[in-house]
Amino acid sequence: MKTTTRRIPRRFGESLQIMNKIEHIGIAVKDLEAANEVYEQLFGVKHYKTEVVESEGVSTSFFKCGESKIELLQATNDNSPIARFIAKKGEGMHHIAFAVDDIRSELQRLKEEGFVLLNEEPKRGADNKWVAFLHPKSAHGVLIELCQEINEK
Ligand code: ZN
Repeated sequence: MKTTTRRIPRRFGESLQIMNKIEHIGIAVKDLEAANEVYEQLFGVKHYKTEVVESEGVSTSFFKCGESKIELLQATNDNSPIARFIAKKGEGMHHIAFAVDDIRSELQRLKEEGFVLLNEEPKRGADNKWVAFLHPKSAHGVLIELCQEINEK
């Protein structure tokens, strides 16, 4: 595995933005209803949607914060990645999600750069997105999510 000499993609030199923005920050919680109340107080607005992603074993709610979002995640079963995260580390920041235009080409590029992909193929996530994760060991302990809006019209 590459460690010190990571190749800088030429696109950086051409100053093309690859990650468009922080799409959302994911926070692992034990009790979604209780967390919703706290974050409603924090932001002064209610969450704008809730969604269960059964394939991921999570129940989620979303808050808008400027052009970014906060995603609260509660496990729906004991095998959920969120349940395992909370058992290991407790509640708290779980991942940062970056919006990309072409998730497949980004996954390919990051794989070539030596990042460890948790998902080789994008999968359907919450909030109408294709999503894929990079292993935290690839990014100094941070679980990174790439996401792309699903357009199916
Ligand atoms: Zn997310």
